[in-house]
Amino acid sequence: MLDPKHIRTLHKNRTGNEPALFLAPGRVNIIGEHTDYAEGFVLPAAIEFATYTAISPRADGKITIYSENFNEEKVFDAATLPSKGSGHWSDYPLGVVAIFAGEGHTIPGFALTIAGDVPLGSGLSSSASVEIATALALSSLLGIDYTRPKLARLCQRAENEFVGANCGIMDQFISANAEANHALLLDCRDLSFRYAPIPDGVALIIANTMVRHSVAGGEYTSRRAEVEEACAVIARHRSGVRFLRDATLDDLAQWGSEMSPNALKRGRHVIGENLRTVAAADALTNGNLAELGRLMAEAHKSYSEDFEASCTEADTMVALANKIPGLIGARLTGGGFGGCTVNLVEEAQAENFAAQLKEHYKNTTGITPEIHRTKAAGGAHRID
Ligand code: ADP
Ligand code: MG
Repeated sequence: MLDPKHIRTLHKNRTGNEPALFLAPGRVNIIGEHTDYAEGFVLPAAIEFATYTAISPRADGKITIYSENFNEEKVFDAATLPSKGSGHWSDYPLGVVAIFAGEGHTIPGFALTIAGDVPLGSGLSSSASVEIATALALSSLLGIDYTRPKLARLCQRAENEFVGANCGIMDQFISANAEANHALLLDCRDLSFRYAPIPDGVALIIANTMVRHSVAGGEYTSRRAEVEEACAVIARHRSGVRFLRDATLDDLAQWGSEMSPNALKRGRHVIGENLRTVAAADALTNGNLAELGRLMAEAHKSYSEDFEASCTEADTMVALANKIPGLIGARLTGGGFGGCTVNLVEEAQAENFAAQLKEHYKNTTGITPEIHRTKAAGGAHRID
């Protein structure tokens, strides 16, 4: 956690003005991988790492955006905003400004200061936290009060349309709507959601494998195509099926033979994952941590064997976690082919767990992992 005084001082030194302050957290997905574009379920939680924004008006029509993480300031003209990003970090906050302008708001000049402790580009969604923290700052400047789901949608559009990254709604949604000590079961079909309590005494340990295999982009595209193929075969027989969200394991048993072997496996992952994700939220609600751990293990196996989106390093990180005392559940989280694993661990064992995981992973792979220990945090808010 950064000290809010730090970003206030940073902003005052930069602009001479007293700012309004906001924060938006990063996130980790506990279960529900590659279900979002099948209009299915995800179960993320916000983490205690966050992006902070400070904002104050400017009279000269200029927008100045400074990021402490990049130690760089960019200046734009509020009257002539670009409609596309340029591949720079400022695309993320500026994209939010451009999307707000597109909604019909007149954008005045302002100074925005950004600083955060969400690791950048590690799969913990620093990008969504920058967008949501910017959107809150801009909303307060403009005196508008979007609902949190609407705010998440606008920020997703900033990332899709302005930055040009093909992300789903999960990251922005959890950053805007999280509740402390809870995961959030999100239905990506209609954005309905419910909270599932994470009991006291459970820590979240995020372990970065430090690898991200370069095949990821192309494989993402081919997985999506295979998921669509599986869906199209089922839809030929059952007209109500628009996405795999609508399909069942029975459908696969009946018509799986008409699919390519890969489409069948990908379909089995997505249909099973939707069931597991809802069951995992129920397990949390019922305080059944053993069941949660079982579901996470099954999800990892499915992600690795049926969806084939894991890698040796991630499988190693999960296998090692399973041998360390205190583990409730472990799996590879995020888009796949590297990135982080998420581990739910008994709080009393958390320190020892983190130390052992680090050591064993280093001994096995030769790579020193980054390990982050956190709790499920609250959502984005203004800091007074
Ligand atoms: P992730 O969201 O998993 O961290 P992304 O690649 O989606 O990874 O987003 C990372 C990018 O978001 C950074 O490269 C940078 O452009 C932008 N970003 C994140 N945090 C900050 C920050 N504190 N200041 C400026 N830009 C940031
Ligand atoms: Mg991101």
